Amino acid sequence: MLTIAVSKGRIYEEALPFLEQAGIKPIDDPDTSRKLILQTTRDDVRLVIIRATDVPTFVEYGAADMGIAGKDVLLEHGGESLYEPLDLNIATCRLMTAAQVSAPEIKGRIRVATKYVKTAKSYFAERGIQADIIKLYGSMELAPLVGLADCIVDLVDTGNTLKANGLEPRELIMTISSRLVVNKAAMKMKHEAIQSLLDQFEKTLDQRR
Ligand code: AMP
Repeated sequence: MLTIAVSKGRIYEEALPFLEQAGIKPIDDPDTSRKLILQTTRDDVRLVIIRATDVPTFVEYGAADMGIAGKDVLLEHGGESLYEPLDLNIATCRLMTAAQVSAPEIKGRIRVATKYVKTAKSYFAERGIQADIIKLYGSMELAPLVGLADCIVDLVDTGNTLKANGLEPRELIMTISSRLVVNKAAMKMKHEAIQSLLDQFEKTLDQRR
């Protein structure tokens, strides 16, 4: 049995064609079913659809053999404990700094609100910018508006969320896409099954190029 952990929402939706081409179709719809483990059209594969930030944890501890998660989440988790063999090039967006429209560049120490504490810390440290990082769990856009922070670090896709809140994108930290990750022990113990899935996913990627 192979267990694949997939991030809820957009990543799950965009991962479905990859899974389907490998013969894996969930039997229940996670939007309407309350089941946490989804059986699939393949007897040897099941899916767990979970919060993005939990995917690397499930895979690291072997509760799932493989996972699909955004590079943003994987960077925050720390990469050492997982294999990351494939960029699925789905759910793409940009990790950026953003500030209030026309807010002047801050010269001294800055305050940054984000859920990406680790990534933000190393980004500003690499540039020699002194930054106090304030951890938030959501609604980052609010922080500059109420004086909690000078800027934020968040994912940007269309830019509409920033715009609607009077913010503008500033610096690109990195482009983000979803990756396939594999538990290190499972890669050895279930090598054949995992390699065959990897080959299928790669085929789908090739067709899309
Ligand atoms: P947008 O308004 O299109 O720029 O989208 C920005 C909002 O959607 C932010 O709150 C982001 O955290 C979220 N978002 C955008 N793209 C992604 C993605 N690929 N994965 C997860 N969240 C995303």
